[in-house]
Amino acid sequence: MSKHPHTIAERMAMLDASGIRKVFDLAAKMPNPINLSIGQPDFDVPETVKNAAIEAIRAGHNKYTQTQGTAALRAMLAEQCRDEFGWADASERPYLVTSGVSGGLLLAIQTLVDPGDEVVFLDPYFVMYSHLVNLAGGVPVPVDTYDDFRPDIDRLADAITDRTRMLIINSPCNPTGAVYTPEELQAIADLAERHRLLVVSDEIYNLFCYDQPFSSIASIYDNTLLLRGFSKSYAMTGWRIGWATGPQAVLEKMTMLQQYTFVCAPSMAQVAAMEAMKTDMTERVAAYRRKRDTVADSLGNAFGLVRPGGAFYAFVPAPGGDATAFVTKAIENNVLIIPGSVFSTRDTHFRISYATTDEELRQGMDILTDLAG
Ligand code: PLP
Repeated sequence: MSKHPHTIAERMAMLDASGIRKVFDLAAKMPNPINLSIGQPDFDVPETVKNAAIEAIRAGHNKYTQTQGTAALRAMLAEQCRDEFGWADASERPYLVTSGVSGGLLLAIQTLVDPGDEVVFLDPYFVMYSHLVNLAGGVPVPVDTYDDFRPDIDRLADAITDRTRMLIINSPCNPTGAVYTPEELQAIADLAERHRLLVVSDEIYNLFCYDQPFSSIASIYDNTLLLRGFSKSYAMTGWRIGWATGPQAVLEKMTMLQQYTFVCAPSMAQVAAMEAMKTDMTERVAAYRRKRDTVADSLGNAFGLVRPGGAFYAFVPAPGGDATAFVTKAIENNVLIIPGSVFSTRDTHFRISYATTDEELRQGMDILTDLAG
């Protein structure tokens, strides 16, 4: 018992890490697990980008930057948006360099969600969405997308009320690997337009899109808060850098909140991010496409997996529909995977990450297909 008991704020009771903690507690007892649980690339930061960061430190880029990020990086982001979305006014739009997409999500939700406000997103979902909404006193409204993980517009429409403040979408999706088609994005945009809703589009996996060119709702719907990052595309997870663009009024408040919280994104990472933007990741993405094929081919028949189109995850139906039971069995057999309940109101699937070596992936697939019986 501590000599100094602390009263913890009530809002902290809204955060619950029990699901994932159980998995990691079990994992800690595994001497040399086949780890298919990790949400980051197995490759390292490109050499040129590492050098840019080292050079940046040596050249004295070690101080606070402007809250919204350096002018040079923001100019590059504007150029990218002009090229990708055809925004003639790209350089006049606001850009905010954030401490990862996580930083952008925190700022966005704190900026936009009042206690009691509802935030709609598709289930299964990235865990942070529900936690950050809860932390703001809001109400997470997950909308079921089982079994094919496509966005169902009628279900989405049914979930919208006059308390709905935003719709969060995430394509390519963590944990399902679903990539939304231009038609699905158009239908979401039309729905959002009808309800005058802001769409927060978390596009952190935009580079990892295997079967179709990536499309962003930002190119068709003005009232989009676009969040992107460098963590996954360039393996810069520890460097904490991402960016946001969207409606002026929202970006202004997010920037003000950043001033009083994160202050700015890491300075040397902002310099290195410019080098990353010039780096061709085609080969890395092609290697991940092959890993996706390995997973889909191995688990497709054995488990009835819906072939994922992007990111580096597969969300696999657990035999008997009991994910926790199957994950326990997998862990007993030295394969670390995550039960679906960590990402969903249901516990019928498990997530595997194929961001690992081909050899480890092959071993993992062999064990899992054996376990499928
Ligand atoms: N959004 C999604 C869907 C993610 O999967 C992750 C990381 O796993 C993040 C955001 C956070 O990424 P960052 O490292 O940029 O904060």
